Amino acid sequence: MRDAPQWLRGLVSEEFFDACAAHPGERKNEKNHYCVDCAAALCRHCLPHHPAHDVIQIWKHANSFVVRVDDLIKLFDCAGIQTHTLSDHEVVFLRERIARKRPANAEINPCAACKRPLPSADDYCSLFCKVKHLGESEQGLRRAIRAAAGEDADVPGKRRASSSEAGPSCGGSFRNRSRKQLEPTRAPFC
Ligand SMILES: [Zn+2]
Ligand SMILES: [Zn+2]
Ligand SMILES: [Zn+2]
Repeated sequence: MRDAPQWLRGLVSEEFFDACAAHPGERKNEKNHYCVDCAAALCRHCLPHHPAHDVIQIWKHANSFVVRVDDLIKLFDCAGIQTHTLSDHEVVFLRERIARKRPANAEINPCAACKRPLPSADDYCSLFCKVKHLGESEQGLRRAIRAAAGEDADVPGKRRASSSEAGPSCGGSFRNRSRKQLEPTRAPFC
């Protein structure tokens, strides 16, 4: 975790949904946003003070903080993190969750970091666990952090290289290829 950039450490450790200290007494002052540029939790009244900053919304699911994959994917490679569906959006948990039950059998796939049993074939139960696990090898974490969010990381030559890597990793052409071309029903006379 030490090697993770400040915004990422903040994202997985902030207490969201507390009342905003900058806006006591305002209605709806719970901190349900996160500014990546400032590495700070924000309430809706804070938002006008962070124009042009990268701000993502935090949601609650099963009493835990979650972010939408669509928001996080710009900043961090979410591959391998277990996703859940919340209001038709895919979300991931920010932090590791306390396992309530011990795994019933050893076949259940455990989270690579916290060993919580995962019902899916994913590697991690949460963003925290992926960051923690990748943090054990410095390069792994660097690779997972998107170019846009890695700007504060002091690797000047790295940005250009990683933006070219950020292209689509899997060609989606397989399905198209198998689809038959629609031919005109009447064959042309020769
Ligand atoms: Zn900001
Ligand atoms: Zn505020
Ligand atoms: Zn975990």
